[in-house]
Amino acid sequence: MASIYELAQEKVRNALRIIEKEEYFKYIAEPEQATEFTIPVRLDNGEVEVFKAYRVKHSTARGPAKGGIRYHPLVNMDEVKTLAFLMTWKNAVVNIPYGGGKGGITLDPKKYSEREIEIITRAYARRLARIIGPDIDIPAPDVYTNPQIMAWILDEYSFIKQWEPAVITGKPLELGGIAGREESTARGAFFVLRELLKDQNIAKPRIAIQGFGNAGMNLARILAESGYNIVAVSDSRGGIYNEKGLDIEKVIDIKKEKKTVQEAEGEKISNKELLELDVDILIPAALDNQITKSNADKVKASVILEVANNPVTPEADKILEERNILVVPDILANAGGVTGSYFEWIQNREGSIWSYERFVNELERVMTTAYRDVRAVRNKYNTTMRNSAFILAVTRVLGAMRQRGWI
Ligand code: NAD
Repeated sequence: MASIYELAQEKVRNALRIIEKEEYFKYIAEPEQATEFTIPVRLDNGEVEVFKAYRVKHSTARGPAKGGIRYHPLVNMDEVKTLAFLMTWKNAVVNIPYGGGKGGITLDPKKYSEREIEIITRAYARRLARIIGPDIDIPAPDVYTNPQIMAWILDEYSFIKQWEPAVITGKPLELGGIAGREESTARGAFFVLRELLKDQNIAKPRIAIQGFGNAGMNLARILAESGYNIVAVSDSRGGIYNEKGLDIEKVIDIKKEKKTVQEAEGEKISNKELLELDVDILIPAALDNQITKSNADKVKASVILEVANNPVTPEADKILEERNILVVPDILANAGGVTGSYFEWIQNREGSIWSYERFVNELERVMTTAYRDVRAVRNKYNTTMRNSAFILAVTRVLGAMRQRGWI
């Protein structure tokens, strides 16, 4: 069976095949640097536990590596390499001056006290200090890491090197983090969807969203504020559906109070049922591998907006293409998150503070431009949006490598 890295590589190969540049694959197939290390930490019970940790720079052709840090029991080199690889293409699609990076520690954060997470993080940051930097590699939060963890990393780095908030993004507001970053993934996805709906002439779409966390809930809120009709949402416990549309403000209140959307008013449905609803737009915003060969033929939506990373498997992709269902790929649809990080980095480097309005306007410009760039490639090659986004990204990265004399 192919590894997840090989599956990700295949997306780039497909793009290169279409533009008849397969011979260039070898230049971008592997990361520039993949670091694996161990961190021994004395825990609260006095025992020393040794954690495995990683940081990968896939490409720095277009600028410093950029990508999050994940704390999860399943973190391993194959996964970190894959996520760093995808960051290279995501940053290139939205044309921000970064390459791709990613990092992580193999651990289940729920099993450790806050003090233990702090000392594990600080030990990781001391190892990272030599290989990250605002012009080298800029981490950010990812699964089970948060602004507090970013603050500890910044603190360690600033004692080892110097005070440099631009070394990491997703920080607390007190340390150079910015208002708007938290909702930037959702707001970016909204701008992409808005452009697409204009192109597709879909006037009053019925929308279903899987996942009601940072990405899914903020997107539901932004869509509802703009008058869109969301008929179903879900979280890990299941979903709710109302064919006339949900009152999203109320659903958010219920989610905050009762920890699940299922307690809100509406017909209870399962996550499986949500994916197969009769809607115009389906937005997976929770987990990977949600639309697979076993349910791709049951999807009724005409558009799938991949706000989660990798929610559609390659096998499902083929079925959806045959069924003429338009898939807006993750490297475009959720790139608002890293674009928000980029704005944080700019402000830290300038020592400036943007207004929230400026943040939103800049995000709108970057995301709509990226959407239109992908559309232009799609019109030229008459292929899927995923292939078009990868063609655009690969062309930009190879172009930078060529200009720098690397290839
Ligand atoms: P989150 O942890 O805040 O929320 C995840 C949500 O998914 C929760 O509501 C959870 O209940 C729900 N969920 C879990 N299992 C589920 C299941 N089986 N069915 C339905 N819902 C389920 O995470 P997030 O930050 O919103 O990220 C969601 C996805 O978006 C991930 O794939 C992530 O990689 C991607 N993403 C997020 C960002 C970001 O800035 N937050 C940026 C890029 C990509």
